[in-house]
Amino acid sequence: MLNHTPTEIAERSALRINPAKTCQPIGAMYAALGIHRCLPYSHGSQGCCSYHRSHLTRHFKEPVMAATSAFTEGASVFGGQPNLLEGLKTVFTTYSPDVVAVHTTCLSETIGDDIPQIVGEAKRQEIIPEGKYVIHANTPSYVGSHVVGFANMCTSMATYFAKEVKSPRRRTTDKHQINIVPGFVDPSDMRELRRLAEATGLKVTMFPDTSGVVDTPQTGKHIFYPEGGTTVTELQNLGRGVATMALGWWASRDAAIEVEKKAYVPREILDLPIGIGATDRFLKILKFRGGEITKELERERGQLVDLIVDTQQHFHGKKVAIFGDPDHVLALTEFCRDLGMVPVHVLTGTPGKRFGEEANRILGAKAGNIKFEGDLFTMHQWIKNEPVDLLLGNTYGKHIARAQDIPFVRVGWPILDRVGHSLMPTVGYAGAIRLASRMLDALLDRRDRDAPEHQFELVL
Ligand code: SF4
Repeated sequence: MLNHTPTEIAERSALRINPAKTCQPIGAMYAALGIHRCLPYSHGSQGCCSYHRSHLTRHFKEPVMAATSAFTEGASVFGGQPNLLEGLKTVFTTYSPDVVAVHTTCLSETIGDDIPQIVGEAKRQEIIPEGKYVIHANTPSYVGSHVVGFANMCTSMATYFAKEVKSPRRRTTDKHQINIVPGFVDPSDMRELRRLAEATGLKVTMFPDTSGVVDTPQTGKHIFYPEGGTTVTELQNLGRGVATMALGWWASRDAAIEVEKKAYVPREILDLPIGIGATDRFLKILKFRGGEITKELERERGQLVDLIVDTQQHFHGKKVAIFGDPDHVLALTEFCRDLGMVPVHVLTGTPGKRFGEEANRILGAKAGNIKFEGDLFTMHQWIKNEPVDLLLGNTYGKHIARAQDIPFVRVGWPILDRVGHSLMPTVGYAGAIRLASRMLDALLDRRDRDAPEHQFELVL
């Protein structure tokens, strides 16, 4: 399918071919699902909302609910206020959510709809019932990416709900509470991050938390608002945390800064804890903030170290190409480096020149091709010029993997053509063991496929 991608690389500034990102509202919608009894609401046309819902549904293999203002030509010209007012009325009377999280789309942003003003009007008309909330995030898709949309909605959660503290001296702290912004990761990852943090003896307020929302068990009954998600009370009490840990500079940092601004809760900006180094740093901060590193956590780490030692001859010197969301890609780059691999092509579709700086810092003298705001066409061209032993990225990498005949491990978002990713974590020591095993399987399957008869081994 992509066999005719040219090898010669021409500089492009105004054209993306196979972008390595999608649009902001998807991230905002996913983040909103992580609030308990929240209905995401797309202020724009029906088509946008359908695309965002279906894309999330295809990754999580779960029905994703969201409402829409369903713009028509009239709203596009005269503004979407009547649609949003009518939509909120319908949503509260029919679906009775505790929270409606409104995000905008390209269309409503271009018109310039003022969401706080419209929500103010909804309050004036008593459309929003007592004890219910409407929050919003601006998510224009012609800037940023789905990661930025996720970050914007997480920040809004802090803006709307975290109780303001007038001065640091007036702050009431629960010395056992730690706030965690988990980043744009799977529900399995959020569950695992909570498990690790709680294992240190701390009490976790995670926001958002989509575990128990988009990974619910099959019971034969449809539950419109599943049990999971961060409650409004938890969000209101963010100010009681000893710190807010933002996992991922792109997806989580702004929310932690917002909690700090509103309630003087110190922020800790960390990498996504994928791999051994980043997980160590995650636990180190938990320890610094009052947690205890238990024997069980040490055992998990030891098992990962053991696996790395046992398999280093298979990873050493292998060239790898990595693409996807910036927080994921940087963490994966560090993990591959720690395994002895050589990440020669590293790319994200999300903007932010910090990506290049960080990737260069991780790889040092071994840094190869690194690009932010790039696309998969560029990644394919890089690989044609310098082939790799393994490709890591989301489902969209499968075309490159097929065209170049490269082993491919699906990691990140979205994964549309496989199952299990939203149930099994990638973060933490256990996640790293799973990830390293999958990468090794891909490398060894390829070795077995190509091995001559006398080298077709039964033993690792
Ligand atoms: S890019 Fe804009 S118009 Fe297209 S689906 Fe996303 S929000 Fe809608």
